[in-house]
Amino acid sequence: MKYSIEDIKKRVDEIYDSVVSFRRDIHENPELSEHEVRTSAKIAEKLTALGINYQSNIAGHGISALIEGKNKEYGVGIRADMDALPICENNGLTYSSKNPGIMHACGHDIHTAILLGTAEILSEIQDELPGCVRLLFEPSEETIGGAKQMIDAGCLNNPKIKSVLGLHVETTVPVGKVEFIPGPMNAASCEFYVTVTGKSCHGAHPNDGVDSLVAACDMVGTIQTIITRRVDPSDPALVTIGQFNSGTKNNIIAGEAKFSGIIRTLNLANRELIKTQIKQICQGISASYGASCEVEFHDSYPSLENDYDLYKIMTDAANEALGHENIVIKNKPSMGADDFSYFCHGTRGFYYNIGTFNPQIDPEGHPIHSDKFNPDEECIKVGILTQVAGVLKILEEESKEW
Ligand SMILES: [Zn+2]
Ligand SMILES: [Zn+2]
Repeated sequence: MKYSIEDIKKRVDEIYDSVVSFRRDIHENPELSEHEVRTSAKIAEKLTALGINYQSNIAGHGISALIEGKNKEYGVGIRADMDALPICENNGLTYSSKNPGIMHACGHDIHTAILLGTAEILSEIQDELPGCVRLLFEPSEETIGGAKQMIDAGCLNNPKIKSVLGLHVETTVPVGKVEFIPGPMNAASCEFYVTVTGKSCHGAHPNDGVDSLVAACDMVGTIQTIITRRVDPSDPALVTIGQFNSGTKNNIIAGEAKFSGIIRTLNLANRELIKTQIKQICQGISASYGASCEVEFHDSYPSLENDYDLYKIMTDAANEALGHENIVIKNKPSMGADDFSYFCHGTRGFYYNIGTFNPQIDPEGHPIHSDKFNPDEECIKVGILTQVAGVLKILEEESKEW
């Protein structure tokens, strides 16, 4: 290989200033999910300058680009999200947002810059890459999620992508380090809506009607027993009912009650189990009160389950690139959701965090989605280095089976 790990480190240092200025440019000009027009054009401009072929307007303003390696039929994917948030930036940076009320407060500007830096270095050794590298610049992560649409658009076919890498900035981890989670990292999500129909009447004569409110209250309480009595206690899962509406006046028996909530589980089987149980509980309680009910489910993101073999390969790569002391292993998944999860079903995915905390830059370490979010840009070096080293190792491993 033309580049040793030391050469890659040197190249990362050499391109760092230009990657940072790209990041600052899109940081100053953030765009909301589904509106990433300028960001997309800037990515396209850079890819053209690097001589990398791409296709734009995928899943809205997404871009899918390809670095062709020796084998043209197989490859590895790398995903970066690119959208900003409806937040007014308030951290005093010289390159703060020029778009009022919009801010790159989730670090997607950094993710995009890292992917372009990674692409630059990989394209320099294109002739020696065992297979292809698919670059996925994903739009709308914060709202509708562009991942599924990019997959549906065929971005993981031709060449066939078996493994996808992704990363996210993390303010609780010191800059210079990466945080790896073997196995489940984020939850599968589902929204549900229940409508209970009874019969209204005067509150002084409840026996003349069917009280939908009492029936619905019973459901809200009983649904919580799914977690304590139906789900394996060693599998994290939750049901939150965040909204409940019923009744019009204190002396009228409510003819209708509506409530809605979310389900979060670390695997897809439990999401299905909980859906079945919610339906059974609501129908059973309705019947016992003489009411009727309708239950609707809307599946959101699947579970983000890191592939164990990819975890091992990435640990090897990060050991060489960053040193053992800079890998933090976390065994506690989050019940939050991220649409990188779509790359963990059908393909194998590995998602990890890069530390951004530097007490000299932001002593309080303001978290993502804060108007004072201010990550140390040095994390960009760690991100590029880990992605390049990881892609090379994965291609090397996978090419043995082609
Ligand atoms: Zn976010
Ligand atoms: Zn994010």
